[in-house]
This record gives sequence, C-alpha cells and structure tokens, in this order.
Amino acid sequence: MSETLDGKLVIGITTRSLFDLEESNSIFEKQGREAYVAHQRERENEAPPPGAAFPLVKRLLALRSPKTEQPLVDIVLFTRSDPEIGVRIFNATKQYGLDIKRGVFTSGQDPYKYLPAFNVALFLSANEESVRGALQAGIAAATIMPAMHQQYDDTDPQLRIAFDGDAVLFSDEAERVYQQEGLAGFTAHEVANADTPLAPGPFKPFLEGLSRIQAEYSNYAPIRTALITARGALAHKRAITTLRSWNVTIDEAFFLSGLDKRKVIEAYMPHVYFDDQRRYCDGAADIVTTGHVPSGVINERNGQ
Ligand SMILES: [Mg+2]
Repeated sequence: MSETLDGKLVIGITTRSLFDLEESNSIFEKQGREAYVAHQRERENEAPPPGAAFPLVKRLLALRSPKTEQPLVDIVLFTRSDPEIGVRIFNATKQYGLDIKRGVFTSGQDPYKYLPAFNVALFLSANEESVRGALQAGIAAATIMPAMHQQYDDTDPQLRIAFDGDAVLFSDEAERVYQQEGLAGFTAHEVANADTPLAPGPFKPFLEGLSRIQAEYSNYAPIRTALITARGALAHKRAITTLRSWNVTIDEAFFLSGLDKRKVIEAYMPHVYFDDQRRYCDGAADIVTTGHVPSGVINERNGQ
C-alpha cells in the first residue's frame, strides 16, 4: 500500500536550515564538489550540530493527533547536494531522533520546483533565490537567517509560531498605501476600509494549516500562534476583520503602533518568527529563529 501525505501539514526544509553545515559548505565553496563529497563521506556517522530551524522541526514532529496518535506534520528535506550526502543526513536525523522519512537531493539544481509534488505548505531555506521561486509558485516560504544564540527551553513542550501581518499573512495592499502616503494616509485608508478584509498574503494557507492542527485538540493545543504587527489601534480592526473572514483564530495579537518588535519577540519566544521587513528580522534573529519573507512592495523596492 502506498503512503500518502493526505491530511498532513507538509513542511519542506533544506538540510542547511535544519543542521549547521557551515563547515561543509565552506569546503564546497573553497575546495569544490569533490572535496565536499569526500568530507561528508568521512563524517557519515558524525551528526552535524543542530541548525537554526532544529528547535522548530523537533517540536513540529512531536505534534500527534490526540485521536489517532498519528503525526500531524510531515517534514521533507530538500538539498542541492548530491544524493551521496543523504547517508550522513539520514544518519543524523536518526541520531537526533527526528522522524524524517523523505529527502530530495538535486545535485546543484534548485529544488523548489519539486515542492508541489509533496504538497508542501511551508518551505524554509537559507537560499533566497529558492525562497523567491517558492513564493512565486504560491507556496509560503522564508529565508531562514543563520542561528545566533537562541536560548530555547528544551523542557517547554509548547510550540509557538509568530507572524507579521502586512505582506506576510495579509497582502501588501495596505503597505503600499503606507509607502506612498505615509502613516496618516495609511491610517485613514485602513479606518475607511476597516470592514473590508485584506486580500490574502503568502502565509494565509500555512496559517489555515496550523488552525486545522489546533482544531484536532479539544482543549488548549500544544501549538500557539501570534500576530506581531506594527499596526496600532486605529488600523487594528481591518486585521481582525480579515482573520474573521478567513475563519481562523490567532491566539495572541500584538498591535504595537510602530514600537520596536524586539522586546515582544523576546517575551513571546516563538520557535519561528516571519516578517517581510529586514529591519525587524535583523532585530529578532539573535533571539529567535527568524524567517525573512522576500515578498511585497518593500522587497520590490529594495530589489532584495
Ligand atoms: Mg510587513
């Protein structure tokens, strides 16, 4: 009987985001492919250290249906490396106790075109080019920033995922008004359109996937979501109107009215935080795992 991914939330992640492969990558860059493959072969039984997305993946894999005991999330590994490297990678997942069964090894080719074949709902990569390709294909995707000194409490089983609003969960239509007309123009526009939902942004389907997982649990789910937005009281209603129209709930919402997001992120300690603005990502990346979403008007303008 063939296995299917039906009913599961599938997350595609590159080996470089899951593990710290910087040593191997620098060998690839300085000494070339042959030396890189030899280096990986010599270390086939030596697991690389955890990478930026490791704490997130560990908690995602621990989510099980209270009714069927089956895992709710399936992780598929993607890498531009040779299939040869798979031996070390799957040895490492086994050593760390990560139940990952699927891997895609593309020997230099960009792997993003294979995401739809696995029904991937979220793609995390260290390579912005791949992330842009995934976003263009309509898949939620983010560039995972290098791990710094994130201090997650290993004894805390709760999984927390936090999102920016505009150009991440929502489209960038209001952000465009902000960029053209400034704060006053933005606020007036959002007040006038408070009862009109914003168009969906690239992360809406992923948020819906998380909501479906939460609905599996009768009481509090071990997974929580948060909206952390620079919108303030005057512009908040449109965000709520939009979430209501999608029939999804967010557990916590922070309307900061322009205050820096860093302190809230530090208090909430999400296992991943997604934002389209580099400055907010830079302010979060040394505290928590951070994914930059290169979508929307700000990333167009900067040509990032
Ligand atoms: Mg934004």
